[in-house]
Amino acid sequence: MAQQYILAVDQGTTSTRAMVFDHDGAVVAVGQIELRQVFPRPGWVEHDPVEIWASVREVVGIALARACLTHQDIAAVGVTNQRETTVVWDRTTGEPVHNAIVWQDVRTADLVDQMGAAGGGPDRYRERTGLPLATYFAGPKTTWILDEVPGAREAAEAGRLAFGTVDTWLLWNLTGGTCGGVHVTDVTNASRTMLMDLRTLEWDTDIAAEMRVPVSMLPQICSSSQVYGRCADDGLLAGVRVAAVLGDQQAAMFGQACFEVGQAKSTYGTGSFMLLNTGTEPVASHHGLLTTVCYQLGDAEAVYALEGSVAVTGSLVQWLRDNLGIIAAASEIEPLAASVPDNGGVYIVPAFSGLFAPHWRSDARGTIVGLTRYATSAHMARAALEATAFQTRELLDAMNADRLSRAGPAQGQGSGALTELRVDGGMVANDLLMQLQADVLGVPVVRPTVAETTALGAAYAAGIAVGFWSGTADVASHWSQDQRWTPQMPAAERDRHYRLWRKAVTRSLDWVDDDVR
Ligand code: ADP
Repeated sequence: MAQQYILAVDQGTTSTRAMVFDHDGAVVAVGQIELRQVFPRPGWVEHDPVEIWASVREVVGIALARACLTHQDIAAVGVTNQRETTVVWDRTTGEPVHNAIVWQDVRTADLVDQMGAAGGGPDRYRERTGLPLATYFAGPKTTWILDEVPGAREAAEAGRLAFGTVDTWLLWNLTGGTCGGVHVTDVTNASRTMLMDLRTLEWDTDIAAEMRVPVSMLPQICSSSQVYGRCADDGLLAGVRVAAVLGDQQAAMFGQACFEVGQAKSTYGTGSFMLLNTGTEPVASHHGLLTTVCYQLGDAEAVYALEGSVAVTGSLVQWLRDNLGIIAAASEIEPLAASVPDNGGVYIVPAFSGLFAPHWRSDARGTIVGLTRYATSAHMARAALEATAFQTRELLDAMNADRLSRAGPAQGQGSGALTELRVDGGMVANDLLMQLQADVLGVPVVRPTVAETTALGAAYAAGIAVGFWSGTADVASHWSQDQRWTPQMPAAERDRHYRLWRKAVTRSLDWVDDDVR
């Protein structure tokens, strides 16, 4: 029978995946390849946009071949992507004018400092965009490209260049590129540019002018679940409708079926991202979180989230593997860390790109404290896992603080403390980490049966747009628990650990100055 499947493209920071899902939300086939990371200078991170697009075509081919399917079997395609990563390309040639500037890249530090110094400090645009001024977001990355690439500003002002986050770049290429490709983004990705007004869901032309980004190069903002166009005829997905776009963390919320106010998930990949569904009103954070769009289904009202973003968690494991060589594979960190009963007094604060939420300190750099002759690589491994758990605890504390500060009779549901945290991402394969996480949070941690929630969320949103699933209640009925970890650490021990972690964080601050970048 035709069109029994949905295909999700998940273009992540370290790899590109295509996954085919059936009507039960079960994974039928996966294609995956690694993405090359380009590090031109300390703190700079780039991807080749042409390679990104080629990787998508390759993984789609692999997934379809493994499932023995063709485009005729696919009801719709959903796209989810690494967020904030910025591409600027020439509309007539289809060629990028520069490598993609990845979300972790800190080259815009001076630029964002200058914007804040012009008035308002780091919160200059927070009221309108939900975001603090930080190197993380796409708008200033675009300013950098227009300033630094010879001829780019003139070409942009003449209307020849297009801006996009990775979703936009992929959609444009999927739907024909220079031959009629659509130039659109969705509300979730647009909410990470620092150029979109969170309430109107439209570009804020004043901010764009202040960032010197011509509005003519910005894509049209659409919902997260609608038919944007069809895949071009010359590709493997010829004629298939592209029907969902969600930034990766918002897609994971969708795949975790966090549709109720007060539900939260944490995704542990290269970095870690915790989102809390706050309903149809954006909630301002006073404790270092971001206000972001969670999803919007067609014409329905947008749903918002509070988000805590941590830049470095899984990538610290990669760093132990690739830079220090104390493990040969990421999975080896678990037995190594489990070979010692505790961290031996060692704390690692992996502020490789400064600290993101809730600190937002670009002047921080990584630090290891508490070293003695007693410390071994096993203590380092344990401290690395604990760094992930502690950074997530900081996010939960900030969410609870924001929740308490807005709780009142008018707030009704969603003002209670979190009762469980749904988890996903590459690191949740690590049982020791999950137990540590439950211990450090004092809240149960739950892993779903389908851990590929990011791709699943994109598939669900695409399926809903084309009637493959009837709505959020339909997809939520497919969510099921695989494993649950309950807190076991005595409260006094948890508090002591967390106090030491916070002390370690203070040691990482204020490192960058005029002659240290
Ligand atoms: P992303 O989507 O950000 O590319 P993934 O969700 O695929 O990332 O997760 C990959 C990350 O998880 C890597 O940074 C890797 O170091 C980490 N990782 C993978 N397996 C384990 C493990 N068993 N224990 C700890 N970390 C792991």
